[in-house]
Amino acid sequence: MPWYKQLHWQIIFGLVLGLLFGIVAAANGWGQFTSDWIAPFGDIFMSLLKLIAMPLVISSLITGVASLSDLRKLSRIGGKTIGIYLATTFVALLIGLVLVNVLEPGGSVPPEMREQLQQTYADEATTGQAAAAAQTEAKSPLQPIVDMVPDNIVFAASDNRKMLQMVFFAIFAGIALIMVPKKKARPLLKFFRSVNDMVIKMVAIIMMMAPVGVFALLADVITTIAKDDLSSVFELISALGFYSAVVVAGLMIHMILTYTALLHFLTPLKIKDFAKAILPVQLLAFSTSSSGATLPVTMEVAERDIGVSEEVSSFVLPMGATINMDGTALYQAVAAVFIAQTLGMNLDIGAQLTIVFTAMLASIGTAAVPGAGIIMLIIILESVGVPSGGIALILGVDRILDMLRTVTNVTGDATVATVIAASEGQLVPGLPHKT
Ligand code: ASP
Repeated sequence: MPWYKQLHWQIIFGLVLGLLFGIVAAANGWGQFTSDWIAPFGDIFMSLLKLIAMPLVISSLITGVASLSDLRKLSRIGGKTIGIYLATTFVALLIGLVLVNVLEPGGSVPPEMREQLQQTYADEATTGQAAAAAQTEAKSPLQPIVDMVPDNIVFAASDNRKMLQMVFFAIFAGIALIMVPKKKARPLLKFFRSVNDMVIKMVAIIMMMAPVGVFALLADVITTIAKDDLSSVFELISALGFYSAVVVAGLMIHMILTYTALLHFLTPLKIKDFAKAILPVQLLAFSTSSSGATLPVTMEVAERDIGVSEEVSSFVLPMGATINMDGTALYQAVAAVFIAQTLGMNLDIGAQLTIVFTAMLASIGTAAVPGAGIIMLIIILESVGVPSGGIALILGVDRILDMLRTVTNVTGDATVATVIAASEGQLVPGLPHKT
């Protein structure tokens, strides 16, 4: 197949074109045109991805867990999965904290700029995202775990932000199916397998639209941030540039050091091959800012291109998309300390440990949707006594950082799935590409 017909090149093409179009549109005041005529294609693409996320999680997890066929295997793989997920998140948090403490981006914001930023985003911070976040403020640090358990399956299934509740239900149902006599379990298993096959086919069909969808999403992001005035983007970036650079550096270090080390030491794969295979997943995560929406493609790539067995991928990846958010945790650590620094507050070791603990819990409870990370940041800020209104400072650049941290989140999920598959002898390196 010629290179330009390969999907990942087409997605890159769409992405770059979307960026360029967004810049031209913002410079020429075509914001309205873009949101009227271009953005809807991005919305359709996002909706299609989100549409299949829930059926995919349910069908793949129930069949995935049930096909493990005995509870010992399940608890072994489950234990390993959760252990590695927590460990990588912990490392991500440490990287974030070390960087933000050493580089001190909060020290460099001039006081006038700080006031101006706070004023600009104060409204948005009190309405919109922050209002939703305010509701979470008063809850116990264990709330994410409490929220994991649904009390109504229909409510849980009807809200993509409650994906984790469905993960819980599906694992629970899968376990019960293992315990039911085989003959009785078979019809249900067959049904879910068939649903699973159908959903995977839908993913392939939706991905044909990816280049156009990604173009539209990017064009819309740029014009929305710029609000028809490109110079405002540059102003914002110069004010929050140092902070953003620290987040980006942390994400890169985590991906390059932690994930590469895991792949190098624990799998037989070449890093180059892995990086090439995972690229379309990263591009999609970047464009959609949602690990939930990216999940169907993460699973497809893990199985088809990386060679992770269906058994492992269908269990480890849906769980990862919902509970493993290294990029988000790292960003939250940097953001929390940055806000404290700009407000002239000093966070001692105890406070920083509290950040680690709350951010680990928060990343479990963070929904795999755009902007969820900044909402959970409120809990972290509250836990260390930093005024949560401080998120007003960083709201402006959050969308861009969201795109980048989501890339880290999905890369982490795929890395851990590969590691688990290798440890279980369920990795087929060099699997021939089907398409
Ligand atoms: N957008 C992120 C994700 O879906 C979550 C976040 O950090 O906002 O992975």
